[in-house]
Amino acid sequence: MQNPRNLALETNSRVSAATLGVYVQVPFCQTKCTYCNFHTGVVARSLYRPYVDAVCREISESRALRDATVDTVYLGGGTPSLLEPADLRRIMDAIRQNYSCALDEVTLEADPETITEDKAVAWLDAGINRVSMGVQSLNDVELRAAGRMHRRDDVYRAVEFLRAAGFRNISMDLIAGLPHQTRATWESSLTELIALQPQHISIYLLEVDDGSRLGKEIIAGGAKYGAGAVPPDDAMAEFYESACATLATAGFEHYEISNWSLPGRASKHNLKYWRRQPYLGFGAGAHSFDGQRRWSNVHDASAYATAIAQGRTAIESDETVTPAQALDEELFLGLRELAGIDLARIERKYGADFAPRVRKLLDDGLLERSGDTIRLNPAKLTISNEAFVELLG
Ligand code: SF4
Repeated sequence: MQNPRNLALETNSRVSAATLGVYVQVPFCQTKCTYCNFHTGVVARSLYRPYVDAVCREISESRALRDATVDTVYLGGGTPSLLEPADLRRIMDAIRQNYSCALDEVTLEADPETITEDKAVAWLDAGINRVSMGVQSLNDVELRAAGRMHRRDDVYRAVEFLRAAGFRNISMDLIAGLPHQTRATWESSLTELIALQPQHISIYLLEVDDGSRLGKEIIAGGAKYGAGAVPPDDAMAEFYESACATLATAGFEHYEISNWSLPGRASKHNLKYWRRQPYLGFGAGAHSFDGQRRWSNVHDASAYATAIAQGRTAIESDETVTPAQALDEELFLGLRELAGIDLARIERKYGADFAPRVRKLLDDGLLERSGDTIRLNPAKLTISNEAFVELLG
């Protein structure tokens, strides 16, 4: 599942990672959402198994960070819940057989309509202990317009199946800005979502890719995909701000620009990205970071599977992060966490004086400073991109 718009990346010597996150990309979807032009495809189910074969082989042949202990796994996409549970288990087995594991959090992204009673039981049995459900809206008009396969009732059914199977860590997301969304329907979706008692909630602002069906319609005009019914940016910002207030009242901690959790339920895997901790990505288009290098696989699923099946590398880009890039990453990623970053630590590490770089942002109220900690101003998160542009400029 693609994350629609994100509101807002120490160079170590050879890294010996204590713990490691593993991401597995499953780039298949049942249909294409109208706003999405992500590298995912609607393909014949017969192609799923060869792809999983390739992922398992890539995991078994990878030599990266073999001295680390895997504590988080994230099975994302695309729609990985489309895979047979036995294939998801094969991926999990490949990770367990090839890496030292002390698995704490194992997340599966799942679309509501793909969740069945039997699958939920099999997922738990395979070692998956967290499900991130792509709810997006609880309004059928909005879901239909977005090209989603599920409807409101599917979400309720899916939650029942997951809970009955024994899942106690469920994340759900909503998208602000879907065609036909109004303040009333937005608040209704959010109220219903909270009542479903997830442990974690993500709120994304709709990002329409120009190459998507909706994107093309917005550019060229037309009414088939609801281009004229996409709420304006200021309405989206208002939806986001109302969600901040409602979720705080409901006891959710706003720990990252797009993410809220009940105490202790922040996504341990995703925190690794924002804290520049090591992770390995397997599958088409998957990215990896060992603390020093970033590399990624070819996006095309069939090119990826062919390369692995022929014993060739699927890596298409590989770069060593320079100290200047590492510093930008510390700021760009670190500030996504609302707790902020320790400026004194970064200044010591990179020998940089940040006072001039942040002064204007502090004066403009986009950043706040408390001792050595700087953070985004919680009241100005909807314009946090301005802070990032200024910081990285
Ligand atoms: S589920 Fe929809 S938004 Fe997510 S990757 Fe597939 S087409 Fe894109």
